[in-house]
Amino acid sequence: MSHSCLFCRIVAGEIPAQICYSNEHVLAFADIKPVAPVHLLVIPKQHIASLSQLQPNHSNMLAAWMLAIQKVAHDHHLDAAGYRVVVNTGPQAGQEVPHLHAHILGDRQITWPPG
Ligand code: 5GP
Ligand code: ZN
Repeated sequence: MSHSCLFCRIVAGEIPAQICYSNEHVLAFADIKPVAPVHLLVIPKQHIASLSQLQPNHSNMLAAWMLAIQKVAHDHHLDAAGYRVVVNTGPQAGQEVPHLHAHILGDRQITWPPG
């Protein structure tokens, strides 16, 4: 846990969040500035700065992360209409919080290409 990291502090319960799912490896909560009617973040509880920092020994967490994304989207009734999963990585992608996270965006038409 990094005390200077916003999402580590949410994992630790030091900063409140609207949590919708938690297990051994991952936490899911509502984005504070939603850009879609459903906008959730799914993060590993372990501090990993970004996708570019992943290592082969993270494979258990990675499986749990992707399955949690699937479950949270399902629980929010997004399967039929579809949804987008986004992992901004690094400055040119607009990553603002340096703790690995997936955005789940749903309940509106999402366009391609992204901005
Ligand atoms: P990024 O741009 O790094 O991919 O996305 C970071 C996301 O975290 C943004 O969508 C932003 O709204 C969200 N965020 C930033 N601070 C907080 C916070 O304190 N609580 C919650 N729930 N979300 C946050
Ligand atoms: Zn962190």
